[in-house]
Amino acid sequence: MNSRDRLRIAIQKSGRLTEPALGLLKRCGLTFRQSRDKLFCFGEGEPVDLLLVRDDDIPGLIAQSVCDLGIVGRNVLAEFSLARAAEGAHLREWRALGFGRCRLSIAVPQTLDYCGSWQLAGQRIATSYPTLLRQWLDEQGIAVEVVTLAGSVEIAPRLGTADSICDLVQSGATLAANQLQEVDVLLESEAVLAGAETPPTDERGDMLELLLKRLDGVIQLRESCLLWLQTPKDALDAIIRKLPDGAQPTLFPLAGQPDQLMLQALCSGEVSWRRMEEIKRAGASGMFVVPVEKMLA
Ligand code: ATP
Ligand code: ZN
Repeated sequence: MNSRDRLRIAIQKSGRLTEPALGLLKRCGLTFRQSRDKLFCFGEGEPVDLLLVRDDDIPGLIAQSVCDLGIVGRNVLAEFSLARAAEGAHLREWRALGFGRCRLSIAVPQTLDYCGSWQLAGQRIATSYPTLLRQWLDEQGIAVEVVTLAGSVEIAPRLGTADSICDLVQSGATLAANQLQEVDVLLESEAVLAGAETPPTDERGDMLELLLKRLDGVIQLRESCLLWLQTPKDALDAIIRKLPDGAQPTLFPLAGQPDQLMLQALCSGEVSWRRMEEIKRAGASGMFVVPVEKMLA
């Protein structure tokens, strides 16, 4: 397995992370042959293949060098890393990817008037993240019984198998449907690109570097836009003061209009209507904001 010359990335076979992970890799210029119900997808252009597996298996597959990288929730990666730290299974979060956002939280029955974590003492708390929960409880200095469940954690209080839960929350709708309230956040999670602590030293390492550069471009782009406007020269200072923080303006002369300039600025983040109105009041005209499609630093 270690003599591979192609980079292998594990992604979730079918679930919340599948489509966004494939979409992200596609935006990085990677395309794959093979249908998605198979175990492997072969990369067409670059030497990168995909392994399609259950998300829970991804950290273990990286630790065993079956694959080099994986796209997995930080929650799954953190539970694995903490549980297996003693065995020296060190994994690394290469990049946070900005999708699959959720929180690992404690939720208690809505009927409980919750004032602090001390109220959990002596309870049974159901979770699929026993190691992360244990660590948090130890930090809080609370003794509870941790009930480890593989799934359907949110129904445990209604079934009477636990008093409270520690589970993933996104909108809170599932909790509300089970008469639970979110009271403490243990971990803010999103999908991440995970890998072994030490990157491969062969060609796969070069491919990893290339992929990280492309990912940075794609991640940065998601937030970026290009602002164009025309300004009288004497309004330029006032307009530059109104640009979003960190905007990098470039100026161009306008043919036949010596007292006017064209300004282009790359903005990291949205340009709101309110800000555009302020810039216009400062003297700008012909303003437009366009999305950026590709960027390479
Ligand atoms: P698999 O069959 O691969 O084991 P799964 O049921 O464990 O699938 P999903 O429910 O698809 O996995 O969730 C995958 C990841 O999506 C989670 O580990 C988490 O990082 C993220 N996620 C985002 N929002 C939520 C949510 N509301 N509930 C659960 N996971 C969420
Ligand atoms: Zn899973």
